[in-house]
Amino acid sequence: MTATATRVLVLNSGSSSLKYQLLDMTDATRLAVGLVERIGEETSRLSHTPLAAGGDKRETEGPIADHEAALKAVGAELTADGLGLDSPELAAIGHRVVHGGLEFTEPTVIDDAVLKEIERLVPVAPLHNPANLTGIRTARALRPDLPQVAVFDTAFHTTMPEHAARYAIDVATADAHRIRRYGFHGTSHAYVSRKTAELLGKDPAEVNVIVLHLGNGASASAVAGGRCVDTSMGLTPLEGLVMGTRSGDIDPAVTFHLKRVAGMSEDEVDVLLNKKSGLIGLCGDNDMREIRRRIDEGDERAALAFDIYIHRLKKYIGAYSAVLGRVDAVAFTAGVGENAAPVREAAVAGLEEMGLAVDASLNAVRSGEPRLISPEYARVAVAVVPTDEELEIAQQTYALVSA
Ligand code: AMP
Repeated sequence: MTATATRVLVLNSGSSSLKYQLLDMTDATRLAVGLVERIGEETSRLSHTPLAAGGDKRETEGPIADHEAALKAVGAELTADGLGLDSPELAAIGHRVVHGGLEFTEPTVIDDAVLKEIERLVPVAPLHNPANLTGIRTARALRPDLPQVAVFDTAFHTTMPEHAARYAIDVATADAHRIRRYGFHGTSHAYVSRKTAELLGKDPAEVNVIVLHLGNGASASAVAGGRCVDTSMGLTPLEGLVMGTRSGDIDPAVTFHLKRVAGMSEDEVDVLLNKKSGLIGLCGDNDMREIRRRIDEGDERAALAFDIYIHRLKKYIGAYSAVLGRVDAVAFTAGVGENAAPVREAAVAGLEEMGLAVDASLNAVRSGEPRLISPEYARVAVAVVPTDEELEIAQQTYALVSA
């Protein structure tokens, strides 16, 4: 890395998508952001916004065959802005990797051995890790000289104690198949818990926070003094809260029942619980805006879906209050948590005895900044803290390569 190399490219590769951000780490500014969608189809689309140049979003449509072609197309857009991937100012590429198992507790510079290890974890993350690997291989081929860093969604949760991480099943079977609770969205939980401490004007080591990451996927975590002690997702992102399309917690016997009685195959059950459950399964919509609109029009299915969503959320707030013993703050983040005031209001309604309350006028404020929404008298701070997983990945990547 040269002394002038201060830029980090963050890549988040999905099975048919590639999200990216280029940041300058001298002041953590975003130089460009974009997304390639529908990779491998005739109608691939690249949207690129050159923030540094103050330019408008540029969109191009047309076939992009694979991730290599996608990254090359992104490179061409960046080059057009004078920010090309061959620039000596690029310090590293940071990759979001969903599953790091127990092996990866920290951001890690990628070499062949690390790649092999991420590949070994494919059975526990069959949807995500292969896509992440494709992104890494493509970027390495394009810039073999550049440090590539993997930042794992699971890493923040590796501090969970055994009694929170283990399922109560036969230990030998669990160990043979690496079955345990790993948790996900860790980059967001790490960032938001730290930012919440900052908002309270305290050292993260001094505060206990419940983070509610409520996006289309959703998870809660209990963070004690900066370390995760419990989280709601498990072996896979299916466990825990009610999500946009995932059921969250469910009696595992439902799956036997669906196979034995309803005659469904393994794959059909998988699709049902991951893609056709949660809010979309309950009412046909997974967008909280649409659900609130329907509730306002008197739609009972939407109202019941909302109540089920809130009921589960409340149970986790209660459970994590017990796990932490003392709660200093509850932080709402991600698409729903940052934007849906009715969700925040309903989630803490009736929890005054636990020191939790929301001030209606503060809760109604729309802002992209971290903010408190609890009244001054409340014992526990309730906060809205916008997440920024890309910035966190860039910071962790840059810290590692500039050390
Ligand atoms: P994420 O996965 O964090 O991008 O969150 C996406 C979800 O956030 C969407 O599916 C919506 O349910 C929700 N969302 C986004 N904007 C709003 C909004 N203004 N009001 C309510 N919910 C929103």
